[in-house]
Amino acid sequence: MSYILSLKCRECGREYEPLKLAVCSNCFAPLDVTYDLKNLKLRRESFNDRERNLWRYRELLPLKEDKYIVNLGAGYTPLIKGERIEEKLNFNHIYIKNDSVNPTFSFKDRPAGIAVSKALELGDKVVGCASTGNLAGSVAAHAAKANVPCYVLVPFNIEPAKISQIIAYGARILALKGNYDDANRLAVLAAEELGWNIVNVTSRPYYVEGSKTIAFEVCEQLNWELPDHIIIPVASGALLCSIYRGFKQFMDLDLVKGTMPTLHGAQALGCSPVAQAFKEGRNFIIPIENPNTIATSIAIGDPGDGIYVNRIVRETGGIVEAISDEEIVNSIKLLASTEGIFSEPAGGVVIGTLKKLIEEGKVKKGERVVCCITGNGLKASELISEKRGNWYVIEPNLNSLKNIVLGLGNGKG
Ligand SMILES: *Cc1c(COP(=O)(O)O)cnc(C)c1O
Ligand SMILES: [Zn+2]
Repeated sequence: MSYILSLKCRECGREYEPLKLAVCSNCFAPLDVTYDLKNLKLRRESFNDRERNLWRYRELLPLKEDKYIVNLGAGYTPLIKGERIEEKLNFNHIYIKNDSVNPTFSFKDRPAGIAVSKALELGDKVVGCASTGNLAGSVAAHAAKANVPCYVLVPFNIEPAKISQIIAYGARILALKGNYDDANRLAVLAAEELGWNIVNVTSRPYYVEGSKTIAFEVCEQLNWELPDHIIIPVASGALLCSIYRGFKQFMDLDLVKGTMPTLHGAQALGCSPVAQAFKEGRNFIIPIENPNTIATSIAIGDPGDGIYVNRIVRETGGIVEAISDEEIVNSIKLLASTEGIFSEPAGGVVIGTLKKLIEEGKVKKGERVVCCITGNGLKASELISEKRGNWYVIEPNLNSLKNIVLGLGNGKG
């Protein structure tokens, strides 16, 4: 059962019953779910026999009743020791948290799984979201499993693979002539006017709870130790804030000992309002009107949790980096060609940031660095296939094959 207590305003501290409420009605700041950690007796062994998905952390998730759980088996994704990429970057202790292998191929199955379940518990009959693509796929899949209608609002230019996926799950796509921020504004209005549960708006305090399970899993997978650093892609900033809360809760519960890991944020240069504010030491975000990057899934020009990302990153001694599109593609290839993990551009910004941290000596040998790979490369595969490196057209005979291969040298390309 859940140990949920209340919704608490992040700014003024006012507390509310955990019902259908998105922001503080006193000051409009975000609300965080609180739990009765004092009375929660969890031990490491408590998890031994539990199912290997995010619902293993049931007490720390905000759903009151089990009967509303929509479970696609998301979470408990692999944490891989990156021995080959360590070699390439001349560093040790790189870990890849591979969330690209979730049921809908991005980490969004964590927040969407919680939020769609909570929408059902709150009695809502239609779910939806504003999305850069991945959340839409995930909400659509959970809505399919829950057998409720689903509307997703996405910019019309999202990747074809993401559109196919949403169509297959049976959701209705409202393809916006505009960017994510336009979609988000419209979704807020649609939620009010039509009573839809727009999961990342209407149920936002609950929605963001799903992603903290990444922190829980990393602790478990490091044998109940905290990593020293973790690198997280930043769009709205919800994921980074949520991972921070996850570490904090496991520390408060004494499940792990030590100090809070250093959290680093990663953005794409073509849409980096949080990184810019970080670099200029500002405590406010200047929105980007026209995001321009191949990393569409993290192209949010007006990130709601941006200021909180910078607070957390400063407090823990991290950085927020901005990575160019060219470097994103190089980094995707580096991860794929060393670890066999094909990521979408959001993973490219993470690996790009890892390289900078190593180059600049901001991570030290012996420290453990976790890289969050949040989306699957097959969802944005045209970025790589359009370039067609390593692509040779041959006649269907051995001579033609040998002519090419012998010209290439050792075949390792
Ligand atoms: C949504 C998303 C993120 C980050 O999202 P936040 O809005 O910062 O929580 C990161 N990577 C991928 C692939 C995403 O789809
Ligand atoms: Zn408030």
